[in-house]
Amino acid sequence: MNDTPLPVTIRDVGLRDGLQILARTVPTAHKIEWLRAAHAAGLRELELGSFVPARLLPQLADTAALVEAARALPGLVASVLVPNLKGAQAAIEAGADAMLLPLSASRAHSLANLRKTPDEVVGEIARIRALRDAAGSRCLIEVGISTAFGCTLQGRVDEDEVLRLVQAVLDAGAERVGLADTVGYADPLQVARLFTRAFAVAGPRLGCGHFHDTRGLGLANVFAAWQAGVRRFDACVGGIGGCPHAPGASGNVATEDLAYLFASMGVPTGLDLHALLALRERLAQRWLPGEALHGSVWRAGLPKTMTEAMAKETA
Ligand code: ZN
Repeated sequence: MNDTPLPVTIRDVGLRDGLQILARTVPTAHKIEWLRAAHAAGLRELELGSFVPARLLPQLADTAALVEAARALPGLVASVLVPNLKGAQAAIEAGADAMLLPLSASRAHSLANLRKTPDEVVGEIARIRALRDAAGSRCLIEVGISTAFGCTLQGRVDEDEVLRLVQAVLDAGAERVGLADTVGYADPLQVARLFTRAFAVAGPRLGCGHFHDTRGLGLANVFAAWQAGVRRFDACVGGIGGCPHAPGASGNVATEDLAYLFASMGVPTGLDLHALLALRERLAQRWLPGEALHGSVWRAGLPKTMTEAMAKETA
């Protein structure tokens, strides 16, 4: 019997989730340096931007150029956020490998942010699937169900409603679905319970956990999801992507902290911790000087008990 745990994939979403709330616009040339360094550190899935109108998110207006740059890197899966049919068309034309469609399980949040009910978003997902198939594209359709663990507007979000939406988006043609706690409301027992129930609905198509560290439970929630069977997580180098409603608050869980967590437990990720820490340093010094970065491992560095082989995998 083979004792090596199944590998975990970490998708770094810094170039989208991390940058979209910053007032500054990082030059495209810097973003391309960033994505190449991420690839060199072993990351094989990156969320590069969003196909939304440039007037709404000028920080992400160069998404197509980043997809083009990413396509030159071997083995890299380039995903982009797509809010609607028009964005999906742009993702297909750009040649993205995957499109991430957000759906808010909170009706109040969905209406406030997208001016659509969750079920109207499900309808748009079905139209996007039809468009993708008609175009002969192989761009994977992934739905990220946000506010799955609670909502800043609505408060509690009913678990049965989240599970109903998981089924609905799969029926609408999504090929992968993930659960997201973008507001830092989740606790580990809730995460374990909801992912276990969602696996019963979606099976292997349940393919992503997306956690923020807003209230310090980010890594505990990642661990709970991992124990429930999740093998793919979103994260950002430097823990960027804080909450627009809570200035200075921690953002996404930090990629280097997740890599450290899994390396400590002997779970393969294919990531090079030294290279990730160097990448974080370049974020701090070169690409995002003056921005608040988060995370823990960078402060103290790696412990002596972590061997070079653990810190620098060649999975
Ligand atoms: Zn996020």
